[in-house]
Parts: sequence; structure tokens; C-alpha cells
Amino acid sequence: MNKSSQIKVRVAPSPTGLLHVGTAQSAVFNYLFARKNGGEFHVRIEDTDEERSTKEFEKDILAGFEWLGIRPDGQIRRSSDNKQNYRKFLEQLLESGHAFWCGHSKEELEDENKRQIENKEAPRHVCGHRDEERKEGQVIRLKTDSSSTREIVFNDLIRGEVRFRESLLGDISIARNLDSPLYHFAVVIDDIELGATHILRGEDHISNTPKHILIYEALGRPAPTYAHLPLLLAPDRSKLSKRHGIVSLNEYKKDYLSDAVLNYLAAISHSYDKDVLSSEELIEGFDISKVHKSGAVFDIKKLNWLNSQYVKMLTPDELRAATKISEIPDAAVALITERLEKLSEAGEYDYLWREPEYDKSLLIWKDSSVDAVLKSLKETKELIESFNYEDGKERFRKVLDSLSEKTGDRGLVYWPLRVALSGKQKSPDPVDIAFVIGKEKTLERIDSALRK
Ligand SMILES: [Zn+2]
Repeated sequence: MNKSSQIKVRVAPSPTGLLHVGTAQSAVFNYLFARKNGGEFHVRIEDTDEERSTKEFEKDILAGFEWLGIRPDGQIRRSSDNKQNYRKFLEQLLESGHAFWCGHSKEELEDENKRQIENKEAPRHVCGHRDEERKEGQVIRLKTDSSSTREIVFNDLIRGEVRFRESLLGDISIARNLDSPLYHFAVVIDDIELGATHILRGEDHISNTPKHILIYEALGRPAPTYAHLPLLLAPDRSKLSKRHGIVSLNEYKKDYLSDAVLNYLAAISHSYDKDVLSSEELIEGFDISKVHKSGAVFDIKKLNWLNSQYVKMLTPDELRAATKISEIPDAAVALITERLEKLSEAGEYDYLWREPEYDKSLLIWKDSSVDAVLKSLKETKELIESFNYEDGKERFRKVLDSLSEKTGDRGLVYWPLRVALSGKQKSPDPVDIAFVIGKEKTLERIDSALRK
């Protein structure tokens, strides 16, 4: 592919809130599309809303992309750096007669809008006061033909042919004044400035696309190719929002590995031939025609499962880094990674590197007597003292099993041992714990249980 035909895509978040998982997913698709096709992936901060945009939100957004490993090509762009171009292109449209100052007051427009909604018409404004003397509070509109019978057609890479009737659009408001473009205009100018060849964005933008195409036409520029991505949905199939739980991507950091989240976001709305995919495999297998048309419900169970698959692959050092628990001994790693779904749950296994604290009443198995528990623990201790750990876990289990056969109650042997070693009602098999902490510590913990 030569340079002039190189694919350029972008994700354009507004820094008016924390990075939403849906925006992150849109970024992931743009990234995969660019990487698969040898193109460029750009990030543009759409900071045109000066009142609501903050540097903190911008930082959160960029940190989220960085965490996912979707690195943009070139500098981070900002709409605020593009003001010169907004003015230049607005002047061009006013001069060429494609745009005009609308002479209606805010109140008149609001009344019209209300009437249209009441009459169940598409809200639009066809201006009867074009090119009047400029007054305060006017907006600049793109002139459209309300009597047009034309259909604006674009070929969406995911949805196929999409058609809109031009006559339903009305005169599109594009700027408050020469220095304050509105969304539809700013986004087109920003994309022209970038040289975006493909626009991959959420399907909630579909109805904006014919407006953008008309702006490109008025400017005498070719429109990019569009692909409208399926949205992430809540269980009730509405657009995923705060009221459905955590939607801020960076809040997932404490519980999930970035590889798992990247894999999840990429694969939830794209057909791949297996579940666990490295970022290279995600790129290699990416095909825009395999992106689903309908939105996918955000399924936290699936994410937990995927995360557990990635956790299993962690080396001891990676596990310690990911959980921020430096005390995890190498011997405990397999036991933890076999079971862990969320990283923050690793602390629940702290008895593998630290003496557990618990109430002595927990040692009592069902309705057994204190004496019976003491006897069982003592016998277990004696067994362990004479047991050679090098004979292995299976042998150890057999020895314990023969003790429980003698006692006639398996729980009476295993329960107090479990509590002595873990301090918990639920834990992995006490035999596994005994082999992680070693003979010496196992005996110490039984002793301290006996003292209680
Ligand atoms: Zn008007």
C-alpha cells in the first residue's frame, strides 16, 4: 500500500468523563483495523466543549488506552488545536453559499421543535430566513434542499448499504459563530485535518452520518468510508451506562489483566475461532466483515472466565506484580492461579504466606467435642511428623485418609486441619496448603491450633 492510500483511523473521545468501556471497545476496533491493514491508528481528544472538558478526564482516557496496549501512531491530537481550520472552512462555506446565518431566534426554534415532536415529525429546521442581516445568537447552518427526492447512500462496512432521505435532514446547524463550531462540523473538519480514510464508530452515530456526508460534499471533499460498530449493552439491552455498574475502564484494573480485557472487548462483538487470543492473534484474525451488527450484552461472567484463563498463564513474578502482593511465595502460585478470577481476590489466600488468625471455635467440626478435635489434631500432627514430604502429596493424602477411616469421620480429620492451616471455612484442600507452606510451618500451625 503506498502512502497516499494508507488507511488512517481514529478514536475521538471527549474528555468530559472517565473512559467508558464502550469507548475503549471502539478504540480497540479502530486499533485492530489499523494494525491488520498496515494503517495508522490515531487518538484525538475532542475537547470542543470547553466547559466540561478537563485534563484529568483526558489523562484517564489516555491511561486506559495505554493500559490496554493500544498505542496510537504519532502525537495525541486535540480538537482545540484545530480552531484555525474551523474558521477557514466556515468562511469557505459561507462564501460559496453552502452555509448561511439562520435568522431565527432560539425561542422560535424551540417552538418549532416542540411542534414537530408533537406531530411525530422528524425534528429539523428548514430555514425561511436565510442570509439575513447577522444578529446576536444566530447560528450558521448548512443549506439543504427540503424538496429533494434524493437519498443519501453510504456503504457501511458492517451494515451494508444505508439510506437516508435528504429532505428529512433540514438545514444542519454547524456553528454558533466562526470560532465555535458545533459537533457535526468540528468532527468533519478534524477528520479532514487528520486525513481519516475510515470512520469506525458506535452505531449511535448512524443518523449523524448523512449530515457529515453533506458537509463533505459542500466542502468538495470525498467522505471517508464508514463502519458503525455495535454498542455494548446492559442486560436489558439498553446502552450500557453507570446505573448498570462499573463502566469506567480504569476501574477494571484492580481486578483484571489488561490482556484479558483487551481480548474480551475485541472478541465480544467479533467472531474469532477460539476464546483466548493474544493481541497478535486478535490483529491477525480481525476482519471488519466479521464484526457483529447487533450489540452485545456486557457479560461480567465471561470476562471473569477469560481473566482466569490469563491468570493461569502468569509467572510467579507476574502474579506478584499484578496483585501487588510481593509476599506470594513461588510454591503458592499454582494454587492461587488455578482458582483466581479477580486479581483483588488474591489477598484471600494470605494464609499461604502468613500465619492465619481465626477464632478457636472455628476448629470444631460440626457437633464434635473439643476433646475429639484435640485428639484428631494431635494424631494428625504425629502423622505429619513421621511423614516424609518427598514421598509426595498423593501418599500424604492416603495417610490422612487412613486416619480418617480409623476415626470414622472424615470431617473430624480434615476440618480442623483446614482451619489450622488456613483459618478459613473454605479453602483449597488442606493437603495442598500443607505442601505449599511446607512441613515445618504445617506443624507450627497445628501447634498453635492445639494451644487455642
Ligand atoms: Zn432559521
